[in-house]
Amino acid sequence: MKTLNFSKIRDDFPILKRLIHGYPLAYLDNAATTLKPKAVVDRMAQYYSMETANIHRGVHFLSEQGTLAFENAREKVRQFIGAHKTTEIIFTRGTTESINIVAQSYGRSMLKQGDEILITHMEHHSNIVPWQMLCLEKGCVLKVAPINDTGELIFEEFEKLLSPQTKLVSVSALSNSLGTVNPVKRIIQAAHAHEIPVLIDGAQAASHQTINVSEWDCEFFAFSGHKMFGPTGVGVLYGKEDLLNKMPPMQGGGDMIASVSFEKTTYNVLPYKFEAGTPHIAGVIGLGEAIDYIHSIGMDNIQKQERALLEYGIKALSSVPGLRLIGTAKDKSAILSFILDDIHPHDIGSILDQEGIAIRTGHHCTQPVMDRFGVPATARASLAFYNTREDIDRLTKALFKVKDIFQ
Ligand code: PMP
Repeated sequence: MKTLNFSKIRDDFPILKRLIHGYPLAYLDNAATTLKPKAVVDRMAQYYSMETANIHRGVHFLSEQGTLAFENAREKVRQFIGAHKTTEIIFTRGTTESINIVAQSYGRSMLKQGDEILITHMEHHSNIVPWQMLCLEKGCVLKVAPINDTGELIFEEFEKLLSPQTKLVSVSALSNSLGTVNPVKRIIQAAHAHEIPVLIDGAQAASHQTINVSEWDCEFFAFSGHKMFGPTGVGVLYGKEDLLNKMPPMQGGGDMIASVSFEKTTYNVLPYKFEAGTPHIAGVIGLGEAIDYIHSIGMDNIQKQERALLEYGIKALSSVPGLRLIGTAKDKSAILSFILDDIHPHDIGSILDQEGIAIRTGHHCTQPVMDRFGVPATARASLAFYNTREDIDRLTKALFKVKDIFQ
């Protein structure tokens, strides 16, 4: 493992030098989106200022250069998630679009009335609503595996819900509102024992743990660039080649075709079949750069730093009387969701903002999780490796201030 100077790493993120309301920024909203290192921003600016060209369809120098950079990023993604082939890497707008492609393409063509889709109670809305839409259209049934009071999946209950009717399991690797790390491999093995394909929502996991879709053997894996130090508007759907080949394209247009006539259109090969139209070229190149950046830090280092911050954060927040952590799973990522007395999380967030402390408040697109814990919303501090103990100290101090104001 490389030894790194983490305070020096903060220099990679120019935004951390900003003052917000006169205070240095304490950015504790990484589960919503991570900050972008200068290398990513510069690489995208380089494409726009010096390399602009559309890809795949040109013979001129810039188009070929752009195509190379784009396809090079696909190879970086392949390696990053441990996929076998680049044909299995589809660029999308993000996790949400990736899941919707599976629901609309795989779901619509392969599932029929009475078939069941199994998710968990901790899913993000983007891993709930696409299945509900599919269920409405096809007469399928959405089943939900329960979670316990710490926010862990109750595995035995999950297993009991796997039945001959279950045609797809779709589960988050890491919960954005609770921080729970799910036992992905065990989930996949249990589903495969019933020959059920599995989609893993990796939106939160991609920047916090090593991903290996080949080792996990999941059928689909979805993630977003912006949650792993890359740009917004770009993400990935990984799918096993044999399944992707059986699935119809989602959108028609340029690039996804082999030939078009008014009588008959034939589709392009993978992965282009699912990439209609001009893609987010700068975004894809930026995502490749973000992957290089993660490698330059090292996932081991990221995890070590985040674990230390999480332990420190749990201790610090426990010192605030009346604070209740929501999400206390044994295997937990650096996400601290909490409520404080009966103070509305939005009030907490606004007061913290006045001191330059950025947290998120609300239901975090997981309303069923809020219902499960009997709260309308939580305040959430989500950490990344560039956060410091000082950020957490400022958060804690500000929470005492919030209490003073409301008492
Ligand atoms: N799943 C999880 C677990 C998430 O945290 C998020 C984003 N908050 C999403 C899916 C959706 O990601 P995106 O908005 O980037 O499509």
